[in-house]
Amino acid sequence: MQSLDFLGQTYELRIVAQPMPPPYMAVQYEGTPELLGVCDNLNPTITLRAGMDRTRRLYTLIHEAMHAFIFLGHFHWLKHEDGRDDEGKIDALSSVLADFLLTNESVIREVLDVQAEP
Ligand SMILES: [Zn+2]
Repeated sequence: MQSLDFLGQTYELRIVAQPMPPPYMAVQYEGTPELLGVCDNLNPTITLRAGMDRTRRLYTLIHEAMHAFIFLGHFHWLKHEDGRDDEGKIDALSSVLADFLLTNESVIREVLDVQAEP
């Protein structure tokens, strides 16, 4: 089983043919033709749809990670006044972050591996 850590909280990572929203989120997903990912904060799990290309997979992972961060008490500015997570803002942030990370992947890997100059 793979897992992800968010600020000390461990979420199970699942990749399945068709993610299903937990019952308490059913209304939130009404009208959504297909789910690419689901973040279940009460049973800390992030589920991604299998078969997505690399870009969409990273985008979806970041998107669901933001739901976890919001739930864990961060990014309150990504919530509507009524308490729902702001999917539009989450989508926008997830898109630019996924694009940045993928476009600059080799440089980011170098930065992560670079040793401090003497
Ligand atoms: Zn969402």
